[in-house]
Amino acid sequence: MVNYVATLISKAPILEEQRQAWRDLLAKLQLSISHNKKLSDRAEDFFFDLPESLGLEALRTEVNTVCNEKTIDIALQPNDRYRRGKRLVVFDMDSTLIQQEVIDMIAAYADVEDQVSSITSLAMNGLIDFNESLRRRASLLEGVPSTVFESLKSQIRLTPGAHELCKVLKKEGCQLAVLSGGFIPLANWIKSKLGLDYAFANQLEVSEDGTALTGKVLGDIVNAERKAHLLRHIAEMGNIELAESMAVGDGANDLKMMDTAGYGVAFNAKPIVQEKAPARLNAVSLQDMLYILGYSLDEQNALLEN
Ligand SMILES: [Mg+2]
Repeated sequence: MVNYVATLISKAPILEEQRQAWRDLLAKLQLSISHNKKLSDRAEDFFFDLPESLGLEALRTEVNTVCNEKTIDIALQPNDRYRRGKRLVVFDMDSTLIQQEVIDMIAAYADVEDQVSSITSLAMNGLIDFNESLRRRASLLEGVPSTVFESLKSQIRLTPGAHELCKVLKKEGCQLAVLSGGFIPLANWIKSKLGLDYAFANQLEVSEDGTALTGKVLGDIVNAERKAHLLRHIAEMGNIELAESMAVGDGANDLKMMDTAGYGVAFNAKPIVQEKAPARLNAVSLQDMLYILGYSLDEQNALLEN
């Protein structure tokens, strides 16, 4: 028997009907709730023992059905010291820490939107891999002024709750990183805005006179494997166990880092990513991530106050 916690999180106050669907599922599986704890009117923890004969995967599949039917998220995880004892949290950037996809913004700036979206659709249909799609998209940017990233900064919108989530995690002693398949000038900027410890992303080559992009990508491409590798690398540098880490992202190329981390959360992700991720959160604010780690709203507010 392993003691588990299921965190119910809703965009609106949790309805009795949603709570009941969860209780009915546990009853059907002959599992019983030992106790529950309200984290806010939108989030609640339920603690229960899970026999090893009933795998977590089997339970997760059933839970996801309830989530889809009742429009609620239920995050399952062992109720152990690692839940709240995170020492490293890594984030994807585009559509996770920020609300946009930077490549689309650059494409609009350079007036190559159609070409970029046709490469994106080749990649989404599995006809080319991430590295190839990045190289092809980057090549369309040849000649674009190197000031492009500077000009985009004013258009970038941080995801609501990103500041609050990072502030609380820093206060609790977590190291934070952005691991992005996007570009390093903006990843570094997000790092400084949110007070993160690390930023890793792709580097676009600049012409010798410094005025324009050459359309080439320099160094290791940050793809799914690289994100997982960087997570391991940062953990090792900080003497942090992988069990003490969490990865948050929205894309298919975030799944490997989610599997490598102690826990992984798909944030407002595509259905296929939600299905494969250890947990999902469909929320307006990234701050709701703190419910998954067991912080009540009162505790969050106290940590945010000073
Ligand atoms: Mg993303």
